[in-house]
Order: sequence, then C-alpha cells, then structure tokens
Amino acid sequence: MRAAKWWAPGDVRLDDVTTPGAARGELLLRVDNCSACGTDLKILRSGHPNMTGPQVMGHEVAGTVVEVGEDVDGWVPGDRVQVIAAVPCGTCEVCLAGRPSVCPRQTSIGYQYPGGFAEYMVVPAAVLAVDGVNRVPDHVTSVEASLVEPLACVLNGQELARVGEGDSVLVIGSGPIGCMHVRLARARGARQVFLLDANAERLERAAALVRPDLAIAVEAGTDRQGVLDQVRAASGGLGVDVVVTAAASRPAQEGALALLAPGGRLSLFGGLARGDSMISIDSNLVHYRELTVVGVNGSSPAHNREALRLIASGEVVVADLVTHSFPLERLHDALEAIASGEAIKVTVEPHAHD
Ligand SMILES: [Zn+2]
Ligand SMILES: [Zn+2]
Repeated sequence: MRAAKWWAPGDVRLDDVTTPGAARGELLLRVDNCSACGTDLKILRSGHPNMTGPQVMGHEVAGTVVEVGEDVDGWVPGDRVQVIAAVPCGTCEVCLAGRPSVCPRQTSIGYQYPGGFAEYMVVPAAVLAVDGVNRVPDHVTSVEASLVEPLACVLNGQELARVGEGDSVLVIGSGPIGCMHVRLARARGARQVFLLDANAERLERAAALVRPDLAIAVEAGTDRQGVLDQVRAASGGLGVDVVVTAAASRPAQEGALALLAPGGRLSLFGGLARGDSMISIDSNLVHYRELTVVGVNGSSPAHNREALRLIASGEVVVADLVTHSFPLERLHDALEAIASGEAIKVTVEPHAHD
C-alpha cells in the first residue's frame, strides 16, 4: 500500500509499504478520509517529541473495517468507523479521576502508532481498550467523520471553559478550529459569538460560513484599546464571558484577559511554538475580576463520541468547512494549502487518485 511517512523535519515521503494485518486485539481499516491540521504542518516542519521517524503521519481518521483481529468483539468488516487520536492508558490515577485527556501515559495515532495518511491503518489494541472506535451512522459522510476528532478537542475546550446558555464568546483565530468553536458555542446556547482574526481575508471567508454576530479584523498596528472598545460595545459594556484563543499567537493570549467580563473564562486553546511560550499578563485582572484561565490538551474517547453525535444530529455542521480534498500523492499540496491559509479545512482521501 501507499503510506506517507515522516522521516525527519522537512522530510515526508510517500512510500510503498507492506499492507499491515490485524493482529490479536486489533482492527484493520481502509482509510476513507484522514483530514489534516496545523499539527500535521508542525510535525512536517519540526517533528514532535513523541515521534521518531520513520512513522506514518495522520490522526483525524475515518475508515471502514476490513479485518477483525482475534479477541475483538463488536466489529465486522464493512463497519464504518471514526478513531480517537489521543489514546489514554485508561488505568492510571489521572484517567481514573476522569481526566483522560491529560493522562501522563497518553500515546497518539500518527506518533507512537502508524497514522491515517495511508491506504490502510491498524487500530491498535490500546485504542479498542479505551472504547476509542465509534460507529459512523450511514447518513454521516467519511469526510464529516474525519472531523469528529478536531471537534472533540473543541468540545473539551468549551467544557473546560464552561461555555453555556447565555454566554457571550469571542473566538480569536478564524481557521477550522475557530470556525468549529463558533458553531459549537451556538449549539451550547451562547447568546453572542464574535470572531476575530489578524488576516482580514481569512476572517471574511470564515465569517461568510459561520456567521458570527461580529467579525473583528485586527490589522497590524490596530491598537488594543480599539479592539477592547469594539468588544465591550458589542457585548453590553463589560466584556465577554469567554475568550478562546484558537491561534498560536502570544499577543492574542496576552491581550485576551482584558476583554473578559467579571467572572470570565479564558481558554488557551491553541498552543504556542515550543521555546516561545512565555507570555506576560496582568495577574491583577485575574485577581480582581475572578477570571479563570484554562488550557486544553486534545480530547477523550467520550468527547469523540459526543462530537460524532453533535455532527450526526446536525447540531454542529462541519461539512462545509472542508474546502480542499487531496489524494495521498498530493499530501505536500494538502499541507501547503494549510500553510498558505488558502484552505479552511483540508482532507486527504488515500484511495482517490489524480
Ligand atoms: Zn489535528
Ligand atoms: Zn492514564
């Protein structure tokens, strides 16, 4: 089969490799869609501490079961499935305390296990052990199913930031994750949702799809006070209840606290580049306004199940966010479409050909 392997920073190659089989406790999938995100781009460029090459990349996987290993119950060839990306151990004290997304023994598809940028992918026993495979209803396409994993991360973020009924929410960053945040916030009953981006073109395209109550373009040189005034005016004077930074931006993180109303929550959703993650904030804002700052690290198997339900029920629409689809041979073009900002969401179809 064909598989895209990461060998070293900047070195991802399409190889012919032996098609794997399903060993005891495993499933073998035909990969129908593996979508791509900024993390894949980061891996291509600089690798990942949990990754040693050569390894097959890709972690947003939807496929069809083609082989069922010994001792695996509940699945038969032909079942359409979605697979978790982050794999908690399920047995440590963090997992047992109900926080599997921060399991210290977490492993990941496309890091420690071969991923979905290949024609076939093994679902490891560790994934089945934590109930990490979800059945995709007939009316949900494989493209949509491949967006379950990123939506699950967005869901984890909004649960931690307690986004709910009546909230005003500001999302910073209008990429696919920002777009999903806008739609999920609405599905959770947010009263107002604003979308902010430094790239006016990207913001306009995203806003045309997800229709925020206000789209705020922050050009280079826009002063923070101007943004603050706009956000306060739009939200009734006090600021917003929640800010989500869906952008790897230090200034966005540093500026976000001032936009929050008393009791507000800041979700640092997008991680910063390694080695450049120190920020400076006014801790008295946190103190006097009783603000909460939360992080988010991927998602749990339960978040994936719920994200699939939200897509299947139509509560969160994701299909129209996929603007680009590429065969596996054009993985580099797929990642380039993310890097250039021309795409919103990019998917790869390993069995499609040019
Ligand atoms: Zn991803
Ligand atoms: Zn654990």
